[in-house]
Amino acid sequence: VKRSKKSGRTEVYQTRAFDLAREQFGIETALRRAIDGGLMTLNFQPICDLASGRIISFEALARWTTEDGVELSPTEFIPVAEESGLIVPLGRWAMDEAARTLAAWDERAGGNCDVKVAVNLSAIQLQRDQVAPMVRHALDSHGISGDRITLELTESAIVSDPDRIAQTLLALKDLGTRLAMDDFGTGYSNLEYLQRLPIDLLKIDRSFVSGMLADRDKLAIVRAILSLSQALGMQTVAEGIETNELAQTLAALGCDYGQGFLYARPLSEVDAYALLRKRNA
Ligand code: C2E
Ligand code: MG
Ligand code: MG
Ligand code: MG
Repeated sequence: VKRSKKSGRTEVYQTRAFDLAREQFGIETALRRAIDGGLMTLNFQPICDLASGRIISFEALARWTTEDGVELSPTEFIPVAEESGLIVPLGRWAMDEAARTLAAWDERAGGNCDVKVAVNLSAIQLQRDQVAPMVRHALDSHGISGDRITLELTESAIVSDPDRIAQTLLALKDLGTRLAMDDFGTGYSNLEYLQRLPIDLLKIDRSFVSGMLADRDKLAIVRAILSLSQALGMQTVAEGIETNELAQTLAALGCDYGQGFLYARPLSEVDAYALLRKRNA
């Protein structure tokens, strides 16, 4: 051990750990500033009825444009936000921004523009924030009714404290929101929650959907999820649809809705509204 210290290995390691800690702190500080300073935006990706192609809702996806103009993906900053607890203010901002956007679209439409918005909820948010009052506050601030909002949660959210989560989800249902299980099939939870929790929608993870035409095992999993959701009276969204063939196959299998680059990439608020008017005309 002494020798390795003398050889400098420990020193190198300590410097690296220090750099990493400092970098982490730097990212956290920058993230906090971005949330407070308007550097965060939401993009909106349509979720379409597979049979008609009509846009039913948009999923709100966070984007962070840094001060030097670089756009960071949520897969990079959501983990930092979760570790640092900044996911609570970030999640509050996202919910408020989603409700504000719906109100802006309604105003442009001269009435209810007849589309919903889906907002992602992190497991950490569900543990640490008062999510139902937070959502109600956002809805009230912008005069939006709860049935315009779908909340997407992941299986990891329900593992930690099932009783508390059940209460929160019931309170969210009382507000009129719909609840979706995101990335369904990739978590480690047992399926018992599906009969106990008020879940309305299952979103079949892209990892099963995108390869299902070439891989019989993936196709079998997709079929199983579809029949499970039908039996439980839930609706289904397939994620990651990039081809027409995939959309048609999923529709034939009885999947209700689809989301993916075939329909559109995540769009700005303005472009999403324009697409809505064009597609649903
Ligand atoms: P998600 O909720 O499963 O969102 C879907 C992701 O798949 C999005 O990535 C979307 O751009 C991508 N996607 C959609 N269609 C396709 C397709 O056809 N092909 C491919 N290759 N990808 C597609 P994005 O925007 O990078 O978001 C990644 C994840 O970050 C989201 O996964 C979600 O878990 C998380 N996230 C994004 N915004 C928020 C937020 O406001 N709050 C929280 N808690 N999480 C968020
Ligand atoms: Mg999602
Ligand atoms: Mg998803
Ligand atoms: Mg996903």
